[in-house]
Amino acid sequence: MSVDLSRRAILVGAGPVGLVTALALARESIHVTLVGETSEGASGRTLALFDDSIRFLEELGVWQGISNQAAPLRRLRIIDDTNNLFRWRPLMFDAAEIGLDAFGWNIESGALNVALRRIAESSPAIHVIDGSAAAPYFEEDRAGCNIAGERLEAALIVAADGQRSKLRESAGISARLERLPQWALTGIFEHQLPHEDISTEFHTREGPCTLVPLASPDQSHGRPQVSSLVWMVRSARARALRRLDDEAFSLAVERCTHSILGKMQLTGPRGAVPLSIAHVASISATRLALVGEAAHAFPPIGAQGLNLGLRDAATLAALAGEALRKGEDIGAADVLEAYEDARASDVATRSAAVNLMNRSLLSHFPPSDVARGLGMAALDLIGPLRRFVMREGVAPGFGR
Ligand SMILES: Cc1cc2nc3c(=O)[nH]c(=O)nc-3n(C[C@H](O)[C@H](O)[C@H](O)COP(=O)(O)OP(=O)(O)OC[C@H]3O[C@@H](n4cnc5c(N)ncnc54)[C@H](O)[C@@H]3O)c2cc1C
Repeated sequence: MSVDLSRRAILVGAGPVGLVTALALARESIHVTLVGETSEGASGRTLALFDDSIRFLEELGVWQGISNQAAPLRRLRIIDDTNNLFRWRPLMFDAAEIGLDAFGWNIESGALNVALRRIAESSPAIHVIDGSAAAPYFEEDRAGCNIAGERLEAALIVAADGQRSKLRESAGISARLERLPQWALTGIFEHQLPHEDISTEFHTREGPCTLVPLASPDQSHGRPQVSSLVWMVRSARARALRRLDDEAFSLAVERCTHSILGKMQLTGPRGAVPLSIAHVASISATRLALVGEAAHAFPPIGAQGLNLGLRDAATLAALAGEALRKGEDIGAADVLEAYEDARASDVATRSAAVNLMNRSLLSHFPPSDVARGLGMAALDLIGPLRRFVMREGVAPGFGR
């Protein structure tokens, strides 16, 4: 393999994880060809990013330009709204209790994507191509694919092509997409009462209905306060809610959230996504690394998905950068094995925790209600456990 090829990566998929991975690899002096289109995301969707993700985006020079569009999440409230006999009182987690100013920040996904794309396009080490990658192949000493009719080769291909990843399939990694009986409905709302920087999750029998602060009056120039919604509901209810006009939908959201923020008014487009879990056997193969939803996908509970994907990006870039500094090949088997090992526990524990929480809400099985009630009681009453869970929620090993 020529020296040039050994420091070259092809990154497929220009969603948020692909863009961040490209920037992180470029920072390690790796030449990246990034292929894909970036959605400006007019789906009323926002992303809550935890403290370590924000620091990573700062290191990449991204956050500085968009932080004024994000709102802090200083407290997280969980309300069991399942009406089960064993439910516990509402839980409140405060970032100050683990020495943080905020657990994280919430930003419109379009604002983040546009900023990432702009920075990637201006990076001399990244060549961005609109379009899609086809006919990938993976060999012992190189990998490649066709992009816009041209054949490109590199030492490493990174698949950031989402939960239905074609690259994953082409490399023979076994994966199963399990359709959930739920959808997530999204939107951005102005509301009458202050959110006080608190994100509130109502745990219902159909999944969580979450309101996340997006702007307060000082940020939104005199407009009322603004929050975003992620509302998980069963498919039949999703169909009914999607048929409502904006006013009726706003009222449905206000009812589901027990008017905790007073009158709600939708301020833009609404989104609706069917939910799935991706069961992926491995996150690497010969000369291929999976990142983001190509590697793991689960329902949007506890704002874990993108945060996990950004940790994939940081880990992969650090390992590839280390190989390059040692004069080694960035796509060699030992680099990819180290990536797989480094990410296994974080990916497995987050996926399991989110899926377990979702299943326990959907189930009407009393032992599962008891377990959830006991879990909430323990978090409420046992300070060290609560602080441990808060730290782990923000990042694995955070603050240890
Ligand atoms: C309602 C909702 C709310 C969420 N909220 C949060 C949150 O608050 N915090 C959080 O951390 N996470 C959240 N998530 C999860 C988060 O949105 C995902 O983890 C994240 O968007 C995954 O990004 P990605 O880049 O891996 O995949 P995607 O965003 O799916 O991007 C994949 C990209 O690859 C492209 N592509 C596919 N095939 C090819 C090809 N052959 N060639 C080129 N391009 C290709 C696609 O067009 C797409 O642009 C939420 C998810 C949902 C559904």
